[in-house]
Amino acid sequence: MPNFNMTEKRHTMSVQDPSERRSNFREVVLGYDDEAAISEAKRCIQCKTRSCTRGCPVGVKIPEFLSLVAEGKFEEAYKVIEQDSALPAVCGRVCPQETQCEGKCTRGIKGEPVGIGYLERFVADRHMASGRAEERPRSNGHKVAVVGSGPAGLSCAGDLAKRGYEVTIFEALHLAGGVLVYGIPEFRLPKAIVRREVEALADLGVRIVTNAVVGKSLTVGELLGEYGFEAVFLGTGAGLPRFMNIPGENAKGVFSANEYLTRINLMKAYEEDAATPIFPARRAVVVGGGNVAMDAARCARRMGAEVTVVYRRSEAELPARREEVVHAREEGIIFRFLANPTEILTDGEGNVTGVKCVEMELGEPDASGRRRPVPKAGSAFELEADCVIMALGTSPNPLIGRSTAGLTVKPHGEIFADEGGQTSLEGVFAGGDAVTGSATVILAMGAGKRAAEAIDAYISSRRS
Ligand code: FAD
Ligand code: SF4
Repeated sequence: MPNFNMTEKRHTMSVQDPSERRSNFREVVLGYDDEAAISEAKRCIQCKTRSCTRGCPVGVKIPEFLSLVAEGKFEEAYKVIEQDSALPAVCGRVCPQETQCEGKCTRGIKGEPVGIGYLERFVADRHMASGRAEERPRSNGHKVAVVGSGPAGLSCAGDLAKRGYEVTIFEALHLAGGVLVYGIPEFRLPKAIVRREVEALADLGVRIVTNAVVGKSLTVGELLGEYGFEAVFLGTGAGLPRFMNIPGENAKGVFSANEYLTRINLMKAYEEDAATPIFPARRAVVVGGGNVAMDAARCARRMGAEVTVVYRRSEAELPARREEVVHAREEGIIFRFLANPTEILTDGEGNVTGVKCVEMELGEPDASGRRRPVPKAGSAFELEADCVIMALGTSPNPLIGRSTAGLTVKPHGEIFADEGGQTSLEGVFAGGDAVTGSATVILAMGAGKRAAEAIDAYISSRRS
């Protein structure tokens, strides 16, 4: 049993210097070394309440893995995490730990919580560096199709493959990974990590067909019919951007965060010889306050712009991960809280020249329990800008709902599914953002795992 480390403060992670990183796309946070990881893990007091595990949406056995890290048994620690999390190297980097495991950690009551996310990342990176390949399980002869290769699709495919299913993933884009490749930037989640997760699935025998838009190139009905799949999992995400519907929103220089981030992350617009370069803004205004807004703002900064984030609530309500907000500030991003755009201003040729905004104040709580922002009379002001990026949330793309007869879809496009992912159609399961609307990686991954279990039970029941 390790000696607990009751006195030490949480070990900080070293990061790339802000003055350097604001002009490159390399990873910002640099990771623990063995010594720091062991010492940080010893800060865990192995409390009986296991409040950290209860704060984790997929119930990772946190005290167990921390105890193994404290003993220097890193690969054993990986095996513990792997039982519940399909993508630990990703989750360790992007999960909102402050509202989940670390938010519930007993050591956080009187000081700083154990660095659970940093340690999860450390263990997963150590495992990846070891180059251990997954063993391919024996096929059970049953075929399942997975539509979409984001966290939901990847974890569903992985769990089914481990149970012996012959899984094929159909992905609309030319690369697998969903938001992990086209949305979250390289400086937060290196794409080599996503690639290795995808390769690990290939080791398990999962086939990945890219450039295949289900609902256009082929349909869910065809997958279940002539292609011979016994079940289909829909993990198609929520990639349809929302706009404000204010005057000037069609001007040249207005982007959805999805388009802006896809051009930069998937199409690598930041590279000098990029095939699809992006408009080089001098002054960018990013509208929104979530992770997507932070990512768009920090990308625009790296592309050379001076960036202002406009958010209609106060700093306390910012939904983005705390670490991203700290990093954004360090990189020189300016925040205008309690403000909302009312018009995009343009020159005679339809180019963006600025954003007209109004100041807001917080009124009575709305349905979400948060205080509703209301405009302050006579408070209009203007911000100069040649680029505006709208990061206001997304909805599921309507394509699958429209092209699949009998699939029940909610008014905002979310596919209707129960806890196990069963949709209104026999043999068709769904999970992740496609069901919940835009949420988090860990929730999507958990939904994919639960659906794999339900699909296994469904196919097994047809066999007996
Ligand atoms: P997605 O990741 O969206 O994957 C869906 C996949 O399905 C895509 O690859 C898409 O191309 C494919 N697809 C769609 N339609 C079809 C079709 N008809 N045929 C074939 N393929 C199709 N969450 C966090 O926890 N932490 C963060 O820090 C964080 N940051 C984020 C930053 C950004 C910029 C964005 C956009 C999201 C962020 N999120 C974050 C949210 C998180 O990424 C999502 O909740 C998660 O990726 C949802 O996973 P998914 O598998 O349901 O969908
Ligand atoms: Fe360790 Fe914190 Fe979990 Fe307690 S709550 S077991 S201290 S990680």
